[in-house]
Amino acid sequence: MTRMNHLQLDINPNAVSTMAPPAQQARRTLKTETTITGVGVHSGETVHLKLSPAPAGTGLVLRSSSKEDGEIEVSPYSVVNTLNAVTLSNGKWQVQTVEHLLAALATAEVTDLYIELDSFEMPIMDGSSAEFYSAVLAAGVVELDETIEPIRLTNAVWVVEGDKYLVALPHDGLRVSYHIDYQHPLLSGKSLTLDLDSQILADEILPARTFGFLRDVDHLKSKGLIKGASLDNAVVLTEDHYLNEDLRFPEECIRHKVLDLIGDMYLLGRPIHAHFIASKAGHGLDVALARRIMTQVSVDELARKRASAGAKSSAVAATGS
Ligand SMILES: [Zn+2]
Repeated sequence: MTRMNHLQLDINPNAVSTMAPPAQQARRTLKTETTITGVGVHSGETVHLKLSPAPAGTGLVLRSSSKEDGEIEVSPYSVVNTLNAVTLSNGKWQVQTVEHLLAALATAEVTDLYIELDSFEMPIMDGSSAEFYSAVLAAGVVELDETIEPIRLTNAVWVVEGDKYLVALPHDGLRVSYHIDYQHPLLSGKSLTLDLDSQILADEILPARTFGFLRDVDHLKSKGLIKGASLDNAVVLTEDHYLNEDLRFPEECIRHKVLDLIGDMYLLGRPIHAHFIASKAGHGLDVALARRIMTQVSVDELARKRASAGAKSSAVAATGS
């Protein structure tokens, strides 16, 4: 985990009492089980992934096909590594690169699901979330009897690390403003702002593939990594151009950064309304922000309960009963 500056959060518990309660929405799971087979980007081995319906309140749960490995709750607090990808662990077993599946589940608003696999990494598929999303839609998404409250921020929440930052502002809806500045002529000083809903996510974000630099390939391979990587599952950049013949979007790489952010925020397991402003961010900042958002949500919900208990007791006092 990267080191963060410790910033004071301006949390005002009284601020929530004047806000309308957030609208609830139905929890969702899959209608039927679905299996997805692909290659692990690091191991190069075949991975079998099974997504199964789960009862309301289960949340998103990773299961190993070896029962003794146990389950991993999808949560910002299950994250043990954010280098290149997000790795979740329960101490016995770990799973790398969960973020692309999570971006697909966030878009489909699936809140309860068993995610079973026989590897330490998710299949990379085509390097994007498109195939996960198609599989989810093909299995069918059904509403459960219980509801879930989307996260609505009452204050700005942010993390800063040197010249990198990630801010979440209260906002009605989901908006992302992303700035990247890689040392590469095609990826320096680029920005993108998008208002997102499920349709725009599905059409303009989920198909954006992960990317890497040819200059890093030898180093990563020497560490036994990226055995499964190829031009079929990544956008690859040479010193001054793209190695792939076609891009899916002119700014595919920045769109993939947005995809990663959406996937990382779904570690929270709830839809979120916010305006995210990211500059040179990545998985480390994303996960640190998700943890801070969890803290603020707990503070807000406690304040709301207290305010509602206070309102009830004054009503009782007013009626004299
Ligand atoms: Zn990614």
